[in-house]
Amino acid sequence: MAVITVERKPLTFLERTYLPQIAGGLKTTFKHLIAPKKTLEYPEQRPAIPVGYRGVPTLVKDPNGREKCVSCQLCEFVCPPKAIRITPGEIPADQAERAHVEKGPQAFDIDMLRCIYCGLCQEVCPEEAIFLQNQFSMSGYTRAEMVNHKDRLYELGGTLPDAHHKWDKKKAAEEHGNAH
Ligand code: SF4
Ligand code: SF4
Repeated sequence: MAVITVERKPLTFLERTYLPQIAGGLKTTFKHLIAPKKTLEYPEQRPAIPVGYRGVPTLVKDPNGREKCVSCQLCEFVCPPKAIRITPGEIPADQAERAHVEKGPQAFDIDMLRCIYCGLCQEVCPEEAIFLQNQFSMSGYTRAEMVNHKDRLYELGGTLPDAHHKWDKKKAAEEHGNAH
């Protein structure tokens, strides 16, 4: 078998001084010094969130401040990693403004150590009560801290505009029907 010997070229005088390499490195450094900054001082500065961003799942209320979730448990059923746990509760008949709804969540927990931000819970919800919104940062010191309970979910979700006003319409229709 033929042996190929690769000749190693001796370094030139300039190469042996390392000056061209140092100058090349400094050129890159100074180029970045004057270039516009590409980094942010997080968490004081935060990136712009694009429309449709799917962050932490949250529960939302309707424009009247009522909880929209009717505890149907579809989201719990569909959630691939089983991150959602719901304890349904009955809505007392004497709650006038919610008398048309049978159930609401007594407890609603989302384990963010399990959640994969797939958005299926939002897709499947018939009441548009659960949304993946802008919140992208969740941290905690214990596993328990990483579970968002109902109060926290509503705090994160807030109130969203409701295009359908489904229950308002249903209630109005019932009242109209009773009047006749
Ligand atoms: S985003 Fe996906 S994984 Fe997270 S709670 Fe919803 S369905 Fe479950
Ligand atoms: S959030 Fe939506 S899908 Fe989940 S239990 Fe409530 S109403 Fe049903």
